[in-house]
Amino acid sequence: MDAERFIAEHIRPIGVSGIRKIFDLAATMTSPIDLSIGQPDFAPPESARTAAIDAIQSGKNGYTPTPGLPALRERIRQELQEEFGWEPEVAVHCGVSGGLTLALLACLNPGDEVVFADPYFVSYTHLVRLAGGVPITVDVYPDFRLHPDRFANALTPKTKAILLNSPGNPTGVVHAAGDVEAVCALADERDLLVISDEIYNKLVYDGTSPSPVTYAPDRTLLLRGFGKSYGMTGWRMGYSAGPAAVVQEMTKLQQYTFVCAPQPFQWACVAAMDADVSPHVTDYRRKRDIVSEELDGVFEFVRPSGGFYVFPRIPSGYATATEFVSAAIRREVLIIPGSVFSAHDTHFRISYAAPDERLRAGCRILRELAR
Ligand code: PMP
Repeated sequence: MDAERFIAEHIRPIGVSGIRKIFDLAATMTSPIDLSIGQPDFAPPESARTAAIDAIQSGKNGYTPTPGLPALRERIRQELQEEFGWEPEVAVHCGVSGGLTLALLACLNPGDEVVFADPYFVSYTHLVRLAGGVPITVDVYPDFRLHPDRFANALTPKTKAILLNSPGNPTGVVHAAGDVEAVCALADERDLLVISDEIYNKLVYDGTSPSPVTYAPDRTLLLRGFGKSYGMTGWRMGYSAGPAAVVQEMTKLQQYTFVCAPQPFQWACVAAMDADVSPHVTDYRRKRDIVSEELDGVFEFVRPSGGFYVFPRIPSGYATATEFVSAAIRREVLIIPGSVFSAHDTHFRISYAAPDERLRAGCRILRELAR
């Protein structure tokens, strides 16, 4: 029997994530220098680990209300009130991925266009299509700024939403406030939803990352996560905040899909939100400085200001990023080719969420390959 025929037509063309392919390759190597991983190398705060264990041991293992525990939603509202003076509707989801999936399913009619920058986080194109929408990308090479003029050119009568991501994956670039403001003005003019993926919002090294919440509070759907901020990616925790109509429809869909985020980890997040992550920010700023110094003069790159990625251009002498990445993998350095995140295969992503010495050793090999 050929079980392939059970697979839906629109699912078949979706390739396995290029990042997963590198993970699989890494599993066959004894001691690769892994600069491919998109997660922090620090543990969740002790208070959060204790809260998760206590919740499990004290029987807090059942479903929670669909939009999340009142205590966690209240704590999130408090943080948003302090940061923006904003009072949105809030719901807790299974990671930012869970929130984004529900947002797109809740908002897109067939053929609705969602506009976002290229390079972009891998899931965006697939999730927009899965929800029946059409991804429209705006090329922001080579400086990875937002370029509101290019966004303006990409809008059509079918545009429903603009999707922003700052600090960005794969670039580590933090948008300029003026650019975010200009994109919000476009959204106002054209009556669009602004979805803001701010999963790296706590990992910012120079100043702050501007949010569309500041410029378009009534039309922004904010998506934030706990995984990257508190070193708990596997706990699958995130939230949405924004217009009540949107968040309530997302919650309705959550009831029939994810049901709720895991209860013990919701309690853990209440505790995590009081933890001081500034030592990690200091640590990752130093890693950002190490990687910038190691690449400087050999690679062309935009110095990242947030997250834990840098996205350099491949050296001359290589036709594609895939070719350069293959050469690096032969030297046991794992990085990701730009084609995973982009229509262009000219850059590669380094994750600097790695021990300093491994990071330096990996960069040394990349430099050798550039000569
Ligand atoms: N958005 C961006 C920009 C990301 O980099 C990631 C994770 N790599 C996600 C969303 C998904 O996050 P989560 O693990 O919370 O689902």
